[in-house]
Amino acid sequence: MQFSELGLSPKVLEAVEKAGFTTPTPIQTGAIPPALSRKDVLGLAQTGSGKTAAFVLPMLSLLETGRARARIPRTLILEPTRELAAQVQEAFERIGQAHKLTVALLIGGVSFDDQAAKIDRGADVVIATPGRLLDHFERGKLLLTGVEMLVIDEADRMLDMGFIPDIERIYKLLPFTRQTLFFSATMPPEIQRITNQFLHAPVRVEVSPHSSTVSTTEQRLVRAPSDAKLKREALRRLLNSQTNVKNAIVFANRKTTVGVLEASLKRHGFNASALHGDMDQRARLRTLDSFRAGEITFLIASDVAARGLDIPDVSHVFNFDVPIHAEDYVHRIGRTGRAGREGHAFMLVTSAEAKYVKAIEQLIRKTIAWEGSSTPSQDEAHSDVAERPRKRRGKSGAERQKPVVAKPREEKQAEDAKAPREERQPREARPPRQERQQPAPQTRRKEPVRDRRPSPSGDVPDSDGFHSGNMPAFLSRPVRSA
Ligand code: AMP
Repeated sequence: MQFSELGLSPKVLEAVEKAGFTTPTPIQTGAIPPALSRKDVLGLAQTGSGKTAAFVLPMLSLLETGRARARIPRTLILEPTRELAAQVQEAFERIGQAHKLTVALLIGGVSFDDQAAKIDRGADVVIATPGRLLDHFERGKLLLTGVEMLVIDEADRMLDMGFIPDIERIYKLLPFTRQTLFFSATMPPEIQRITNQFLHAPVRVEVSPHSSTVSTTEQRLVRAPSDAKLKREALRRLLNSQTNVKNAIVFANRKTTVGVLEASLKRHGFNASALHGDMDQRARLRTLDSFRAGEITFLIASDVAARGLDIPDVSHVFNFDVPIHAEDYVHRIGRTGRAGREGHAFMLVTSAEAKYVKAIEQLIRKTIAWEGSSTPSQDEAHSDVAERPRKRRGKSGAERQKPVVAKPREEKQAEDAKAPREERQPREARPPRQERQQPAPQTRRKEPVRDRRPSPSGDVPDSDGFHSGNMPAFLSRPVRSA
């Protein structure tokens, strides 16, 4: 199937060519024709499948006729996070360059008045996070009665973040005649319920089961000691052993671990920077821009970054921790091996984490191979001081040093497998959902009651000796995420 067979306008086809897309991806082949026929679409697709273009291209076609009026946008794209919204805006402006449309980005953390001024001049497209969109609506800055096409992106992520009540409110403000393109990687019952309620005879397009991992990605498990410091050393050895790292994301389960890893990797000469939930919007975007530009080689992230970041050519994903929820693994490693490129995904595994690996293997329906044998023992552990004389990691990552591989220690592996139960990370140690959200400035709008999970009860120490009680105050009260 070619782009020219999908029914796109000549101007959009030109834009596709300029964007360098030669063949449509399955979600594009499945979703674009019904979207162009003004049908509702229910797309089951993950990030990396090309789903952004699957809604941007028909939207561009639609917007070729007609004009936006002040405060009444013609199309609306809802995204769960600020980063995703900013990325979709970028994609929209890149692909829609020749269309000269007005795109307003309504997200938290940036000036409300500038956004209001933009809508006031008339926006063809509003790309928003639900909370900020409702803020604009409630302050009388925007009317949704002119929306011809609505896109809900990453609906399951919206559910995770407690946005479903907001989505339902927004739906009720839209004209009955609008067309909806609805995308989700998974279909939990709550999402099923809202699709039944709001989509009219949708065309369902499912491109790959949620549990699939990209076949171009090489996945490996690496044994690691339970001690936090030794585990960080194991990570450094792993990073050093990879000679072809162009850029990489290092995932950790907890925000506190992200902070510790950033400091530790920097101290050891790695070109690393962190991205997590309580950075302000500017800092996040700056970090992401530097990462995209290749100025940062290792992006250390918590799961807030796991879904949706459009970083097309991440060569490696390193999981410092095994994610406790198997689905997070699929999302994490979805950052590499995208659009047919070769990807590499490594995961450090302590004995206590082995049970979570089993759950992941069940989900992805394959066994992940172990990488050689790199278990360091307590006594042979390389101290921080001992590592210092090593060559520093430059930003290009071109002059990679020779791997420092630990000697095989079968005995140690056997020992690790017998680790006491207490060493295992309790399920409650998973950060509450709001930890993954972004802080946002106070607004005058009354906070709605959301599906918030409680803060962790008590102080649960993480593997780095941090306590959840160290969380900043804003994490323990409901916050608007955007
Ligand atoms: P997405 O799933 O929308 O995040 O897209 C993943 C990546 O694939 C992005 O970098 C897109 O620019 C790229 N992409 C989307 N559609 C195509 C296509 N038809 N051919 C090649 N790359 C594409």
